[in-house]
Amino acid sequence: MGERQLGEFEIIDLFRGHGGFHHGWVRQGIGDDCAVLDLDGERSLLVTTDLLVEGVHWLRETITPWQLGWKAMAVNISDIAAMGGTPRAAFAAAGLVAGVDQAFLEGLRDGMRACAERYGVDLLGGDTSRAPRDGVLCLTVLGSAPREQVLLRSGARPGDVAFLGGPVGLSAAGLWLLSQEGERVARLDPHHRDRLLRAHLEPQPQVALGRWLAQRGVPTAMMDVSDGVLQDLGHLCRASGVGALLAGEAMPVDRALTQAAALGCCAEPWRFALSGGEDYVLLFTAPADHQDALVLGARVELGVELIPFAWIEPEPGLRLFGADGIHRVEPAGWDHFR
Ligand code: ADP
Ligand code: MG
Repeated sequence: MGERQLGEFEIIDLFRGHGGFHHGWVRQGIGDDCAVLDLDGERSLLVTTDLLVEGVHWLRETITPWQLGWKAMAVNISDIAAMGGTPRAAFAAAGLVAGVDQAFLEGLRDGMRACAERYGVDLLGGDTSRAPRDGVLCLTVLGSAPREQVLLRSGARPGDVAFLGGPVGLSAAGLWLLSQEGERVARLDPHHRDRLLRAHLEPQPQVALGRWLAQRGVPTAMMDVSDGVLQDLGHLCRASGVGALLAGEAMPVDRALTQAAALGCCAEPWRFALSGGEDYVLLFTAPADHQDALVLGARVELGVELIPFAWIEPEPGLRLFGADGIHRVEPAGWDHFR
């Protein structure tokens, strides 16, 4: 090892190919939510894989096997949604500690199945092994989209507005709730508590929104928010060669998060919402003159409240708009090695 620990994204860069691909049909490799393969015909094949590690992504004490199964499937489906695609098939690889009980496995299977059913995905294969100490679960999901509708991270342009497909920070607040004593949790309105816990334990990937956006042909770039808005908008901007100015304090904050903040979850909910991870809402950009039509269309046709929250600018980096002027921010969020 060198003297400095590499971050997650520096490690990924080590694996990134240089030069071209062996096959002409690869449109996108490492660096987006899915790889995009333009095989024969009108449609592109989308492929994504995500790994969940016990003790890192989940604790046996705070997530049910059903929820774990749901989440493992959902986070992969969310990457298909992030390209504007339709999820089709899944493969599940599991490393299981010796003595894992049947009820756990059945719960895991039922959660995976429920999510797969909900989004029209077929489980077609996988692999099973014993793991020495902690469990691991790695799902691969395949999806497809009409070729010309695939939305990459790299298409954002100055003059675009960046939107979120829904409120952020709820999942991170749900994670905070799981670490709290019962008494504090009891002070939270049950409706808000369920909203926060469900956001963390049973994320709902925005496949319908992703398809709707892709079909309209208006968005210029898209991804899903898994590592926190600041981190992920940073990735989208870097891939597009642009920067962004964020609304900062003016960001709308969900009431469940405001209430959690009052109980000690965080000092500034809007700031917390921008860097909390595992939201699995879509983040996309579109030219500013389409903003009203997109917001109204999503509300009327899908019942989804889009949140315009940033402006794409030519200058690289992220800037926050606040009461005391504009400040540069670092893309803070989840990094497994930081
Ligand atoms: P997401 O959060 O959308 O799943 P990640 O941030 O995990 O995306 O990964 C970013 C990109 O790096 C993706 O294209 C992913 O496939 C790729 N990637 C991550 N780890 C590796 C690895 N060990 N080898 C090759 N590619 C990787
Ligand atoms: Mg993603």
